[in-house]
Amino acid sequence: MYDILIIGGGIIGCSIARALAKYDAKTVVVEKNNDVCEETSMANSAIVHSGYDPLPGSLKAKLNVRGNEMFTQLAKELDFEFGRIGSITLATEEQVPVLKELVERAKQNNVPVEILEKDKLHEMEPFLNDDIVAGLLAPTCGIVNPFEYCVALMENAMDNGVELKLNTEVKDIKKVNDHYEVVTNNGTIETKIVINAAGIHSGDVAHMIGNMAIQITPYKGEYFVLDHFTQPFVNHTLFPLPSKKGKGILVSPTTHRNYIIGPNSNETVPEDYATEQKGLDEIRAGAQTLVHDIPFQEIIRNFAGLRAKDISGDFVIKEDENNANFFHVAGIQSPGIASSPAIAEYVEELVLKNNKFATKAFNPVRRPLVKLSKLSDEARNALIKQDPRFGKIICRCEKVSEGEIVDVIHRNCGATTIKGVKKRIRPGFGKCQGGFCEPLVLKILARELNVSPLDIKYGSKKADILLSESKEVK
Ligand SMILES: Cc1cc2nc3c(=O)[nH]c(=O)nc-3n(C[C@H](O)[C@H](O)[C@H](O)COP(=O)(O)OP(=O)(O)OC[C@H]3O[C@@H](n4cnc5c(N)ncnc54)[C@H](O)[C@@H]3O)c2cc1C
Repeated sequence: MYDILIIGGGIIGCSIARALAKYDAKTVVVEKNNDVCEETSMANSAIVHSGYDPLPGSLKAKLNVRGNEMFTQLAKELDFEFGRIGSITLATEEQVPVLKELVERAKQNNVPVEILEKDKLHEMEPFLNDDIVAGLLAPTCGIVNPFEYCVALMENAMDNGVELKLNTEVKDIKKVNDHYEVVTNNGTIETKIVINAAGIHSGDVAHMIGNMAIQITPYKGEYFVLDHFTQPFVNHTLFPLPSKKGKGILVSPTTHRNYIIGPNSNETVPEDYATEQKGLDEIRAGAQTLVHDIPFQEIIRNFAGLRAKDISGDFVIKEDENNANFFHVAGIQSPGIASSPAIAEYVEELVLKNNKFATKAFNPVRRPLVKLSKLSDEARNALIKQDPRFGKIICRCEKVSEGEIVDVIHRNCGATTIKGVKKRIRPGFGKCQGGFCEPLVLKILARELNVSPLDIKYGSKKADILLSESKEVK
């Protein structure tokens, strides 16, 4: 019998798992995919929003601001990429009064902001269109590598005793006396406490125990990613004014000095991750209202993510009214990443209200990743002397060595697929999008996991790469 079972290995489930790893409780995360960070947490803008714009008093406002504060310490402990580059929300002449209203909202949410006049603004961001006359600078806004963040959370939770069951889909849940029977494709799991962190499926999970009030609708957001190139472009996360549809189409650097442009927001159905010309045109036009000379020739990828929007419009984080010790963490749309450490703290408090768990020894620090491209020549040479695999570059675009790939395969929450390696250490994220490195990563995975190359998937269980041997190699 488990004490705590968390449904969902996205940023929210993994954050909660780490927060609860401090306690002497038998805890497991069940995830239907073959890796963590496979759904909404993988496909988003990756902005650690400052929190000036959620409705004052809402859970979103409270948890965004608190979560944002927690990121500096968290990034140090877990060694993931994070930078406070600041955001600027831009306004044309007619929009300036709205910008002033946003200053009031920021004050109510306790978020530092500053209005920038045209000259200073254009000096800071030379690619702005001429009709942009003012901007709201929120210096605490940051950018994060969401894949690295999510994996680091789960790895650290596992280092501290949490179990992870991948390829395990919750199909039904039954309340039996003082515990729950969670029926999965891999058998039934008994647990005293259930935490529903199932993203766009959190409504379906709520319905399994008869809670029909949580109704999640997916809203798709599409993006362009530009390569990292040598000419300067934007320096901050640039937003238009927020609207009913959300924060709008942004232009921002990423933690790896790529640039991200998007998202739009259109109602859709679960599993619809397709990008379409219509959506991409919408993004292109939206970005062009903010900046000029966007180097669209540098596009290396399009992608789409699905927001889990509850009908309340706010995060839904509470114990189920009719089922004690069943906690919903649903409707976690943006700013879910920014809020994630605070959401975990909030859920921890909810769980401890009804349940007594002693604290245990907890190490909050993850063993740092080796990142060859960030080392000095001396440090790099020393490392290669120690282990020549760090001298063998596998991904030329992102400069990733064999040693780094082997390391992310053998950690807790290690990579087992090509996409898993890509999310953890970046081979395949560059201009060639894996054209050169993918076969090499496949061979390393097969060797290190001691399986046939035919068994290595690109990502999901269905994503075969090699179907059969075509000739005998001597
Ligand atoms: C377009 C877009 C832009 C965004 N931009 C930002 C941003 O800039 N900043 C920000 O803070 N937030 C942003 N967000 C929001 C943020 O991405 C989400 O709030 C966050 O990733 C949600 O994490 P999650 O763990 O709840 O969901 P997910 O990552 O989807 O995780 C849920 C997990 O549950 C698993 N699961 C579901 N059902 C079952 C089941 N029955 N059994 C087992 N497992 C199950 C799924 O497989 C999935 O892995 C954005 C979202 C989108 C879509």
